[in-house]
Amino acid sequence: MATPPGFSDRDFQRALTRFRSVVGAAWVFTSDEDVALYKDAYSPLWGEKEEKVASAAVAPESAEQVQAIVKIANELRVPLYPISTGRNLGYGGAAPALSGSVVLDLKRMNKILEVDERNAYALVEPGVSYFDLYRYVREHELKVWIDCPDPGWGSVIGNALDHGVGYTMNPYRDHWDGHCGLEVVTGAGELVRTGMGALPGSKTWQQFKYGFGPHVDGIFSQSNFGVVTKMGVWLMPEPEAYIEGQALVFKHDDIIPLVEHMKYLMSAGIQNCGTNLQSPIRFAVGADPELRKLLTRSDPEAIARLNAFAAERKIPFYSNWFKFYGPEEVVRAQWAYAKKRMSDIAGIQFVDGPFYKFPLTDDQIPGLRDAQDFGVPTLDTFAIGARSNFAPATNGHLGFSPVIPMTGEAVIESQRVFETILQEYGTNVAVNVFPQSYHPRTFVILIMFYVMHDAAINKRTREVFRRLVKVAAEHGWGEYRTHTAFMDDCAAAYSFNDHSLRKLHETIKDAVDPNGILSAGRYGIWPKHLRKA
Ligand SMILES: Cc1cc2nc3c(=O)[nH]c(=O)nc-3n(C[C@H](O)[C@H](O)[C@H](O)COP(=O)(O)OP(=O)(O)OC[C@H]3O[C@@H](n4cnc5c(N)ncnc54)[C@H](O)[C@@H]3O)c2cc1C
Repeated sequence: MATPPGFSDRDFQRALTRFRSVVGAAWVFTSDEDVALYKDAYSPLWGEKEEKVASAAVAPESAEQVQAIVKIANELRVPLYPISTGRNLGYGGAAPALSGSVVLDLKRMNKILEVDERNAYALVEPGVSYFDLYRYVREHELKVWIDCPDPGWGSVIGNALDHGVGYTMNPYRDHWDGHCGLEVVTGAGELVRTGMGALPGSKTWQQFKYGFGPHVDGIFSQSNFGVVTKMGVWLMPEPEAYIEGQALVFKHDDIIPLVEHMKYLMSAGIQNCGTNLQSPIRFAVGADPELRKLLTRSDPEAIARLNAFAAERKIPFYSNWFKFYGPEEVVRAQWAYAKKRMSDIAGIQFVDGPFYKFPLTDDQIPGLRDAQDFGVPTLDTFAIGARSNFAPATNGHLGFSPVIPMTGEAVIESQRVFETILQEYGTNVAVNVFPQSYHPRTFVILIMFYVMHDAAINKRTREVFRRLVKVAAEHGWGEYRTHTAFMDDCAAAYSFNDHSLRKLHETIKDAVDPNGILSAGRYGIWPKHLRKA
């Protein structure tokens, strides 16, 4: 059995005995088989001595038990790593950022405490998954939708805390933006409610985010300052209808006006969700080395050759799916207006997509192409480089995901910069995804690397990943989220004024978790005793 850093077997056994006295012996996991379940199945450090592994796990069933465990951990200096459902695959899974930590597994705290249909919110505990909340809404025939990420088995709280994203309307699809009110056990063991939750008997905890005074919720996301034991989440009132449509443009530079139109439609609230921007030509180029080389160039000759390649094959250079939720008359008018607005791009073509009225029947749901767009959680998208039917030789994926400006010029530049590095290393990536409009004013470029159970390949992948982080930072592009293996690298890039933001994070860490027991190293924040000079 692994032990926390600096712990003898005997000291660790004493700590485990104390944890058992809080949760009962059945809920402290120490056998190799049980602890192995907390490994990161997609670890880019798989099988290496640096692989991040837990020493044990403890599963409380209430906020009071969480407080009791945090108190013991403070007394004995046991490093804890809270997880909600621990399915953060691609970003570290259930494995702690600091090897040897005890995973504080909150899956037993799985109560849906309240769902208010009239005010469209829910209050949930950490173990509540998207499937759980969806089933509740469906069984009670409530006229509200949840917003979920691709895999529906994750938790509403864990995903939001990691700034996870989904696919319906703003603000629901940015899961942190869609939260309202937290209950947190701080690293020092204090139970705190944020926003209106601090007012005893408050009637608006899940409706008014700010409360009174500083709005502190943000310090509990992508951090290690507390254990979140309850969270409010805004639900989307069920729309009457939905329509989607696609715009196809055929020249390299058409992305510039296409993105300008898209941005206007989004910022003006005409297109009230993300879009799906793709480059069919990039797929058509495939592995052809000569054509791929053209993607690393921005000179007129390269652009002319790519334009000719697209024209010969009648393949659009870019395509973009637009989606609209609302009353039927409104969504039809919105799509019609979007088409009119974009028709100043020479040669643009439009394809009208499906139209739905809600509620969907049980028969309609299995046939949906992207069920998440309708607030329906599934595990359909579970195969990006992952022991899948289309990539059986791999063991998972890893996402490099820098934020770039929402302009066509930035897309062209970032694709060229990243493509050059990938080609230089001869890297085979699972997906070189086109910009994602997860957030309303920026794009995230998502490059998915394969992860293998092969140390040499993973080492190379880590090298390329770190290079990409550095080069991205040189261009002013920082990551929005990352795997635990790269948190220090990504945090180091946010270095303005001699890393003053990191110093502020450390000041807060020292204040709310003075013994540094929670999630050491998460998002590059280390407790005092583990801080490097
Ligand atoms: C094929 C595939 C597709 C994916 N698509 C998406 C997608 O569309 N959108 C997306 O966002 N993600 C996506 N992911 C990533 C990931 O699967 C989801 O984000 C998932 O919901 C995260 O797991 P979880 O909810 O169990 O969170 P957890 O693993 O429970 O939590 C994530 C982290 O947050 C912290 N944390 C969790 N709970 C607490 C708490 N209560 N208190 C303090 N700290 C806590 C911990 O450090 C934990 O490691 C995808 C993954 C795969 C494999």
